[in-house]
Amino acid sequence: MDQPGKITKNSSGELIVPDHVIIPFIEGDGIGPDIWRATKAVIDGAVNIAYPGERKIFWHELFVGEKGFKKDGQWLSDEALGEIKDHMVAIKGPLTTPVGEGIRSLNVTIRQKLDLFACIRPVKYVDSVPSPMKNPQKIDMVIFRENTEDVYAGIEWASGSPGAEKVSAFLRDVMGADLPENSGIGIKPISPGNTKRLVAKAIEHAIENEYPSVTLMHKGNIMKFTEGAFRNWGYEVAIEKFRDKIITEEELYDNYDGSPPEGKIVIKDRIADMMFQQVLLRPEEFSVIATPNLNGDYISDALAAQVGGLGMAPGANISNECGVFEATHGTAPKYAGLDKVNPSSLILSGAMMLDHIGWNVAAELIRSSLQATVKSGTVTYDLARQIPGAKEINCSAFGNEIVRHMK
Ligand code: NAP
Repeated sequence: MDQPGKITKNSSGELIVPDHVIIPFIEGDGIGPDIWRATKAVIDGAVNIAYPGERKIFWHELFVGEKGFKKDGQWLSDEALGEIKDHMVAIKGPLTTPVGEGIRSLNVTIRQKLDLFACIRPVKYVDSVPSPMKNPQKIDMVIFRENTEDVYAGIEWASGSPGAEKVSAFLRDVMGADLPENSGIGIKPISPGNTKRLVAKAIEHAIENEYPSVTLMHKGNIMKFTEGAFRNWGYEVAIEKFRDKIITEEELYDNYDGSPPEGKIVIKDRIADMMFQQVLLRPEEFSVIATPNLNGDYISDALAAQVGGLGMAPGANISNECGVFEATHGTAPKYAGLDKVNPSSLILSGAMMLDHIGWNVAAELIRSSLQATVKSGTVTYDLARQIPGAKEINCSAFGNEIVRHMK
């Protein structure tokens, strides 16, 4: 048997994936161990069935979160971050945010320390999953949320603190701003560099996957120099880097009478509040969405609800160097250790990871078997409570059912 090896990159930046590949995982806190156990069984089953005797994943555990703290007193060690970088791909369960430990959020810290600038969340209806929408099959979107800046940059001062007093005095006395007394202050940085690399990734994804449009979602009518600038820089990078592959919505109506020419992606923009209405009323008009951090956080959960909730929503955080694939929900502490919750979010994130490393047959097998399992009406509690006549099974049994449907 070949020795297991790490993923590397060739000189053109393409991933070189050994058939016996080492992939790091973080089990996660709360429900993490339950959903990870089910996910590992499903991924291993799919790889084994898709590439029998040929390919295999050798899982390498990283101790992060409560497990890391118990083991060596560290919630998130530099060593664990180094391992993710070194292996280029990792998968993780949800992590508790330790309160009062000096770390804002382990998830945000991982994203910032590894500069995982794009949070990618596909939102696609899985047949038979209960949905509040009349025509959920019209939903096929991929959100590209900027991950490193905006109000999530962590530049803020509490009301009454010396920092807030100092910044308020500067804003009032030097900049002439009118601020209420004792305001808490948060800073919202949005930069051209970070905006352009995010929007470029979103457009590349639309090109590779033949999506018809990329929508820049922003609140630029109010926050002109941050969200408005995001919109402008988004159009700029689209024209600078992808001129022969895109047209703007303005060009669509000025030059093409509203019908996009074959093979061109339409770049458009929408104000964030209106967008929440339009994704409900006309979901078929949206495919790839690129947006700053806070908007992306809100729209991801809202769209997940349209296709079955957080338990079904996969995600990935990527940079040009590495990718961390993760469940989008939290640790759901009340269900920890009960082997009860829906593992689909992490399982579908695993399928995204397999696509990322080019093992697409296994990825597709996971998605089709998950769909067959839901269709058969044997589902976890969250779906069972919405599907009349469904049989409720636990988390591990649901994973086993998915593997059974692969055979
Ligand atoms: P949460 O853990 O996402 O859970 C909220 C609710 O969502 C659950 O009570 C459950 O709803 C539903 N849910 C979540 N995961 C599910 C699953 N796999 N299957 C079925 N239903 C699921 O949110 P939270 O309670 O606000 O956060 C708890 C902790 O997680 C916090 O420490 C937070 O910081 C952390 N967190 C981590 C991440 C991450 O690691 N990426 C993300 C968000 C939050 P019902 O009660 O209706 O059954």
